Amino acid sequence: MRIAMIGTGYVGLVSGVCFSDFGHDVICVDKDAAKIARLKAGEVPIYEPGLDTLMEKNVAAGRLEFSDDLAAAVDGAEAVFIAVGTPTRRGDGHADLTYMMAAAEEIAAALTGYAVVVTKSTVPVGTNRQVQEVIASANPDADFDVASNPEFLREGAAIEDFMKPDRVVVGVESAHAAEVMSEIYRPLYLRDFPILTTDLESAEMIKYAANAFLATKITFMNEIAGLCEKVGADVKEVSRGVGLDGRIGNKFLHAGPGYGGSCFPKDTAALARIGQDHSFPMRITETVMRVNDEVKARMVEKLRDACGGSFNGKTVTVLGVTFKPNTDDMREAPSLTIVPAMVGGGAHVRVIDPQGRAEGEALLPGVDWLEDPYEAAEGADLVVLLTEWNEFRALDLKALAARMAYPRMADLRNVYSARAAERAGFSQYIAVGR
Ligand code: NAD
Repeated sequence: MRIAMIGTGYVGLVSGVCFSDFGHDVICVDKDAAKIARLKAGEVPIYEPGLDTLMEKNVAAGRLEFSDDLAAAVDGAEAVFIAVGTPTRRGDGHADLTYMMAAAEEIAAALTGYAVVVTKSTVPVGTNRQVQEVIASANPDADFDVASNPEFLREGAAIEDFMKPDRVVVGVESAHAAEVMSEIYRPLYLRDFPILTTDLESAEMIKYAANAFLATKITFMNEIAGLCEKVGADVKEVSRGVGLDGRIGNKFLHAGPGYGGSCFPKDTAALARIGQDHSFPMRITETVMRVNDEVKARMVEKLRDACGGSFNGKTVTVLGVTFKPNTDDMREAPSLTIVPAMVGGGAHVRVIDPQGRAEGEALLPGVDWLEDPYEAAEGADLVVLLTEWNEFRALDLKALAARMAYPRMADLRNVYSARAAERAGFSQYIAVGR
């Protein structure tokens, strides 16, 4: 099967590489010529564990190519996936479909034989029909179907998620498109991964409902964490006790500094907007968004308290700034709220992140970037554990405390315990919900 993948970001690149590993012939296209040049040189432009090896293998096997020529890639492809960005539109929370529709027009002009145009990007309900109309009106002779195939991979575990998905969702309207989609995902059918075939609207809705539900789950536990602090309960015990209930499950129940990332913030905003557009407010989702903002603001207050009421003149060491470990993605990371608040309050902030520096330097002005946590803690007034990279999970707390001017730790991921911190010589240990 020949596949064109339009958009070679976190989702497009991982999907393209994995489809080629299924045995398909894939051309990954991006309009960012510099990105394509790096890919052609064998360089992976994002940090995603395992992606480099898989990419190299499939390029060597002749199944995977990169190009900035969309028309040439689409010509002769049986499936054209759109995996471009759908960020929040400035001002109103809508998903911005500018890139989607521009890609649809370009595809329309390039279609030759029959092809299925598949939306992999997360798009509001009704977008696939809009794509269909855009293509049909730009090229009335085009022989095509549309399909909705939302992606559920998690950055940091993207390959595993793509190769062993909880489910694949395929929204289609024609038997021909269904046939092409099942051919593409045949390796997963053969291994009994659930493939759910729905109409277009349901497929689009599943993605938003899933992300809004996960954002709700996290935020619910973050709110419980706040109450735990008031009543003297330990949210770690509480989330374990709650998560062992099979109806609830233990995932996404870890209290922390609020959700961020490239998906939850924009997808909750888009779902809320879809509700408003249909005079059916998504009240739970709207509340989740508000509470999540409050959680992040509460973290800033926690840190200010830890600094004795003011950041002014304090030296703060921040461990981890990406929105979660194992990715270099900084989009909507809690650090983007928390670090500028400290810098703005007059703190001298030192930052360490195993992969975040390239993205983070422009986003976090006025901080110093270091490599070694112990060196970064030298003379500091506070260490903040913000992203729980493995590198920060087994620190020698004694050595860390010994180098600080005032050994205080704010562990916003609940990695350590008050007892361990105290034993190591920390005079203050602050966590979330404990
Ligand atoms: P991204 O910003 O990393 O990548 C998008 C790419 O598309 C960019 O490289 C851009 O240059 C390219 N592009 C835009 N218009 C183009 C065009 N006309 N032709 C060729 N290339 C074009 O985005 P992403 O994080 O990969 O997300 C893509 C979509 O997948 C979004 O809708 C997102 O919500 C969804 N999604 C993302 C994740 C994730 O973890 N990042 C997970 C599931 C779903």
